[in-house]
Order: sequence, then C-alpha cells, then structure tokens
Amino acid sequence: MSKLRFDVVQDAFRKKAVDIEVPETRPSEYFGELVFNREKMHKYLDVKTYNALVDCIDNGKPLSTAVADKVAAGIKEWAIGHGVTHCTHWFQPLTEGTAEKHDSFMEYDWKGGMIEEFDGKSLVQQEPDASSFPSGGIRATFEARGYTAWDPTSPVFIQDDTLCIPTVFISYTGESLDYKTPLKKALNAVSNAAVPICQLFDPKVRKVFSYLGWEQEYFLVDEDLYAARPDLMLTGRTLMGHESSKNQQLDDHYFGAIPSRVAAFMRDLEIQGHRLGIPLKTRHNEVAPNQFELAPIFGETNLSNDQNQLIMNLMHTVAKKHGFVVLLHEKPFQGINGSGKHNNWSLGTDTGTLLLAPGKDARGNLQFVTFFVNVLAAVQRYNGLLKASIATATNAHRLGANEAPPAIVSAFLGKTMTDVLHKLLVVPSDTPIEIAGKKGQSVGLVEIPEIFIDNTDRNRTSPFAFTGNRFEFRAVGSSANCANAMTVLNTIVADQLVQFKADVDKAMADGKSKNVAIMDTLKPIIASIIDVVCFDGNGYSDEWNKEAARRGLNTEKSVPEMFKEFTKPETVAMFERMGVYTEKELEARNEVKWEMYTKKVQIEARVTGRMAINHIIPAAIAYQTKLLENIEKLKNIFPDKFQKLAAVDIALVEEISERIAEIRSKVDAMIEARKVANKIECEYEKAKAYHEIAESLFDIRKPIDKLEEVVDNDMWPLPKYRELLFIS
Ligand code: ADP
Ligand code: MG
Repeated sequence: MSKLRFDVVQDAFRKKAVDIEVPETRPSEYFGELVFNREKMHKYLDVKTYNALVDCIDNGKPLSTAVADKVAAGIKEWAIGHGVTHCTHWFQPLTEGTAEKHDSFMEYDWKGGMIEEFDGKSLVQQEPDASSFPSGGIRATFEARGYTAWDPTSPVFIQDDTLCIPTVFISYTGESLDYKTPLKKALNAVSNAAVPICQLFDPKVRKVFSYLGWEQEYFLVDEDLYAARPDLMLTGRTLMGHESSKNQQLDDHYFGAIPSRVAAFMRDLEIQGHRLGIPLKTRHNEVAPNQFELAPIFGETNLSNDQNQLIMNLMHTVAKKHGFVVLLHEKPFQGINGSGKHNNWSLGTDTGTLLLAPGKDARGNLQFVTFFVNVLAAVQRYNGLLKASIATATNAHRLGANEAPPAIVSAFLGKTMTDVLHKLLVVPSDTPIEIAGKKGQSVGLVEIPEIFIDNTDRNRTSPFAFTGNRFEFRAVGSSANCANAMTVLNTIVADQLVQFKADVDKAMADGKSKNVAIMDTLKPIIASIIDVVCFDGNGYSDEWNKEAARRGLNTEKSVPEMFKEFTKPETVAMFERMGVYTEKELEARNEVKWEMYTKKVQIEARVTGRMAINHIIPAAIAYQTKLLENIEKLKNIFPDKFQKLAAVDIALVEEISERIAEIRSKVDAMIEARKVANKIECEYEKAKAYHEIAESLFDIRKPIDKLEEVVDNDMWPLPKYRELLFIS
C-alpha cells in the first residue's frame, strides 16, 4: 500500500495539462448554442406559437395542448439537428444534485419501422416512479406517484445526446417535492409584494425580478490521490490528516497564477458552460491551496440557480477528463479554509431599475433606502430562519467553526450606509435624499455618494454584506442548492414588504404625503435594526457571540436544532401567508433534513471507524514492530548501552501503543453510541444523537493525526495533506 502511495504521488506530480477542444468561433458566437433560447424559438416556431410561448414565459399564461405540441415539434427538430436521441425531465429533488430519467425519441411507426417522436405531453409532464426520492413521509412508497412539470421560464438544453427539460417535481396530492417549486413561489411572492411599492415611485412597474449571482468555490484533487483516500471517495472530505507544514499562511495561492492543468480544466469548463448559455465570467485561485472559484454574471434567480446546478454537474464530468476530482464539500480539509457559495442577491424592476442600488435622484434614493431597510428588517426578524436555510451536515463544519460564516446572521452595511441610516433618523421626514457631488445642496440633505460601489468596505466575516448594489449572502454552502436560501430570503423580504406597504397606506390615509408616509414608516424600522442586526465588526470573535446573544440574535450552533426554525408557528404562518410552503410541506422537509443529516454523519462515522481500524492501526503496528526489532537488535549488539541507545525507540513504541489504545476505545465508544442512536425512531431526536457522534469524530481524529506525525512516512498508507493540496 505504501509503495502504491508513492507511485501515485509521483505519477500525479508528473501529469501534464490535457489538450482541450477549443471551438473555432469566439465565445459570443457559441454562447447558448445548446439552449433552446429566444433566438431558437424564433427560428423553429411559427409566429403564433412563439408569441404564445413568450406570453407563457413572461406573463405566466397557460399553454394549450395544441401549442405545447407545436413547441415540442420545434424543439425536436432543433435537438435532432444536434444529434439528440433522448429526452429527460431534469429536476431537483431533495437529495443533492439533479435527477434525470432518459427516454429515447423512438416510437413504432406502425409500418414495421421506427420514427422519432416528441409531443407536447412529453414536454409538459412526466410521471417518474419516484418512490425513492425523499419526501418526508408525504408520499408513502405504496403510493409513489410524483409528477414532473415543465418550467418554461428555464430554457430546455442539450447535454450529450439528451434533451433536458427543467421541471418542477410535485406529489400526487400537490405538495412540492423539490427545490424549484418553492423557489418559484417565493419569486412570485417577492414580485407581488414589491410591485405596489415600486409603483409609489414609478407607476409603470409591472414586475420585480430577483437576481442571483453565485460564486462557486471548490477544490481540485488529483484523481489518483483521491482514489487512495476512502474518506474523500465516500464522504467528500478528509476525516483524518495532519496539517501540512505549509498551507495558506503565506497567502501565496489567492489570485496567484493558475497552474496549467487547472487552467486547462477551467477553460474546458467555461467553453462547455458557455455553450450551455451559462454566462461564466470570473475564475481565480482562492485562499487555500488547490482551492478555486468560478462565477457567472448574475441573472434571474430561478435560471441562475438552474445554471448553478448544471455547472456543478458539469464540473464533475469535465474534471474527470482532466484527471481531477472536484470537491464541492464545504470543509474537505481541516486547518485551511472551507468552500462556500456566496449568493449575491438583489431585486430589480421590469423597467430596468436595480432596487438595492442608489438612485439617480432623490426619488430613486428614497426607493433604494426603502428596499434596503426592509431587507434588513426581514433579515433581522428571521435571522434564525435564514441561518437554518443554509444549515446542512456538511456546512456545519464552516458554521461557527471560526471561519466564514459565523453561526450568527448579522448584516454588514459599510460606513456609508451606516451613516446614511443614522442621519435619516434625525432629519425631518421630508428631507430629500440626494446624491453627493451636486454641490451646494449638501446642507440638510442625506447624501449617498456616487462612488458608492467602490465605497463599501469588504468585511469577509459578515454572512450578509451590502456590497453597493446588492447583498451578498455568504453563508450558503458550496455544495448547496441555492434555492433553499433564495426561497427563504425572497419570502421573508416579501412578507416584510407587504407589511410595510400596509403601514405606508395607513399613513397616507391619515393624510400624510407619500414621501413623509414612507419615511415615517421607515424611521422606527431603522431605529429597531441599527443596533441589532447591523454589525460591522469581527464576526469571528468570542465577544460577538456574547453580544449577538444579548441583542437577541439566534446563536444556535447545532444544525439539527436550527431546522426547528422552519416549523415555528410564526414561520409557518409567514410561509403560508406568502403562499410558498404549507405546514405539511415544512414538516415533511424537516423530516428529510434530519434524515439526511443523520445519514451523512452515519457514513462519516462508519468510514472513520473502518479507516482507523483497517488503515491507521495496522500502519502504526507495522512501524511499532520495526521499532521493536531495532530495540531487540540494539539489545543484542550493545547489551550495556542499550537503554540509552534505544530510549527514543522505546518512547515511540509507548506513544504508539497509547494512541492505538485511545483510537480503539474511542472508535468502540462511537460504535456503541451509534447502536443507541439507530434505535431512535424520531428523526429529530436521532439527528440530535448523531450530532453528538459528529462531534466525537474530531476526538477520534486527534490521535490519528498525532500518529501521522510519528509513523515512518514510507509506511503511512494515505496520501497526506501536502500531497493532496500541492499537486495539481
Ligand atoms: P467578489 O468581489 O465578491 O468576489 P465577484 O465578481 O467574484 O465578486 O462576484 C460577484 C457576483 O455578484 C457576480 O456573479 C456578479 O455578477 C454578481 N452581481 C453583481 N451585481 C449584482 C446584483 N445587482 N445582483 C445580483 N448579483 C450581482
Ligand atoms: Mg463575493
């Protein structure tokens, strides 16, 4: 085994960048070529069908069966031209990743041959036998019907020989069984709530879009090294491994030159992403060694999230071609940074105004401040829920583990906006909010400088940071489906906006002018948030933990416990008011989350135990035997001096014995704890028990990592951190 490790390391080190197929045309020409976008709709559909489909996409108008048939015919013609033979509904069940079930286009032509068939019905609806997808008990296995239904707002695309149709996934009784359905409901809710407020400023507004720009962090590990680590293969992270002498101390990886094998991978990924219409824009090295980031230009949230799901799949397949494995786990390596997925989020109108960016004039600024303050109010009120929206077994290793994000959701405003809010509290409500730079108007005005975007400082410790024209929700995990966080964020903002509008209407009915009514409603909200959710300090400090608790922010660190936020009566009422989740759905989803949590920890626990017993202890004993042989020989050759000469070996033998005994007894205790936990019926209680087991895995790892420090390097069976992290 150890010989294998060295061969693997040598081979991995010598690997060269893989040649990639670069299209002859430029990116703007092949961008979106595998997507049935508006340009293709134009080309492959007649005018009437095109208009009906656009009306369906833009205005939610239903599509008749006849039109669906025509759309399907157009899609089929386009797809066959690209060598497509199969189609699948592409959906996002409550497992990780996406699900597909491929059906070929082939049908009998009843003349003894076959033809390619694809009709409207196959486009619009499918019924996968979905009993194996998690449903939290909504769908008993004996009654397994679940339906997938086309989401026309996310375009159909081609992967290899398969036409992929983005769909929602719902149960026979109508409950959502996926991530997309509630997200779409939340996006409707926020639009419905925001439009009446926008209309106070611009009556032409008809729709408000939620925007998402994700920044996907990931690690790359050579596939041969990966294959020699059972923990990486089965859990996506290293469950043991001593820190490398050099890791990220020198900050020499961040934004550094991209290694050639990695650069080839990134380029390949970008080409394929662009062909699939994903507007990939940014790529760079991240802070930790072998850690990288990828980000697109932001887009409408539902589509942008689909594209994130797609790119995560694509990353795995492209990496394989380049001899890498992509790690999307939030914490693959102890002692260096983990990976997140910043969700840059904002709202914008169909008239082209970004609602979280300063306006062009006093009116625009008042609109901006209105949305800005209401977002913060929502985040404050539901800070525990927002945290629960990003809580998973894997993200738990970042939450509260002294790295981004802390297990407390607060918001970073930056000095400019903090000053603006303070000033708004003291000036009369009819004070125009002007943009600085217009000389002579500054006295008595609340100023928002034009250079705003660059003016917001960076605070990497804040989980929810204002960055000039958007908020950056940084707590989302790298492996997560953004929909969970985006559903919660958009819904709580919607709920807050509805409340706000009602209060403004009341103030106006009492005779206040529009602007005064708005400002008078905003002021008490500002006063209530400014010293609670708003926090510009160091989010990692112990003092902040205490201070946050004093402020009434949620400081819960246990993931199974966090999920309870979803079923609190006021949360259920809020989701039901906004038409996003029913109580039954929320309860079912929590069952799924607890079960997932338990299973993840259970797998990690099993792998830890087996690696400890099958890999680590035998290696330690082999080395110990070598030491004992040496002691024996010393004794034979130097009978008088042997105590002195063998002192180091003897101490090592003792240390190894102690560590082995410690590992063995801790593994045994962990197995016993699992036996007890496995008998628990209630998913919540079981997850709580597994939370304790998760904590105990750190204790098992400690003596293992100590052994790695003393055991002969030649005899250590697992690729070490310095190999996993510095070969690319
Ligand atoms: P950072 O400096 O935070 O690393 P990046 O440039 O890597 O920033 O990523 C920022 C992301 O935010 C990109 O996806 C970008 O398109 C997105 N973004 C920019 N403006 C907005 C906005 N108004 N709403 C949503 N996302 C935005
Ligand atoms: Mg960012």
